[in-house]
Order: sequence, then structure tokens, then C-alpha cells
Amino acid sequence: MTLADREIMASKERKQQRLANSALKRARALSHIDTRHEYRTLPPGAPPADPAQLAHNNTYGRLPRFYLDRIITCRKCGKEEIWPAERQKWWYEVAKGNINTQAVYCRACRNDNKARKSEARKVHLDGLARQRNRRTRGPETDM
Ligand SMILES: [Zn+2]
Repeated sequence: MTLADREIMASKERKQQRLANSALKRARALSHIDTRHEYRTLPPGAPPADPAQLAHNNTYGRLPRFYLDRIITCRKCGKEEIWPAERQKWWYEVAKGNINTQAVYCRACRNDNKARKSEARKVHLDGLARQRNRRTRGPETDM
């Protein structure tokens, strides 16, 4: 990698960091807004909730009427990150997540957890396959 390439990468990283920071700032500025309140007009860009898709929630409490980017603090690494409004809508309305749940890990830790889980699964399956091979080979091969 040339020096110029490295400079381009560093400037891209700085730009991403700036974008992340301004998204956090924006979310912090809107954090007082109650997404369960019946506002006459929604905050600009806020995706509206679909009550029919939220009906799986067995609750007497009020359900959200729209979604806003929210700040979460990662339970694993402590990083502050945006949980985007569109991802919330997906979680509650498509994945049918309970309305009292929310994201607890940042994206990096979530991917990390996913990779770890699939690695553990692979090790488990490999172990099963080895056991199966041992069994089908019969006892004489063990001698
Ligand atoms: Zn994290």
C-alpha cells in the first residue's frame, strides 16, 4: 500500500467517524421525543410504525407510533452507537421482537458474537461427524 493509499483510507475513516458523531449528536438532540405520543406531525424522516405489525405485543401499554434513531451503549465494549430507526422498525415489526426489548450490542460486537456462534456450531458438528465415523467403522478399527 502506498502512502497515498494510506492517506485516502485514513481520510475515509475520519469521514466515517465524523458521520457517526453527527448521527449521535442528532439522536441525542431528539432523545426527548416520545415515540409513543400522538404528535400531529412526525419528526422529519421518522419511519411511521404499522400498528398491525405490532399487534403481536401482548401489552396494555402504548405502542410506538414512529421510530427515531436511538443511542445504545454496547453491553460488551461500552461503545455508543446508533440503533437506526429503520432497524428498530424491522426488529419490532418484521422479526416480531418484543416491544420491551432493544439492541444491546454494537454492530461490531454483534458480528463478533455471530462469528463465534457459527464457529462453535462448526466445532460441534465436526465432533458429531467424528463420532459417527468412529461408530460406522466398527470396533475392530479401534484396535
Ligand atoms: Zn460493542
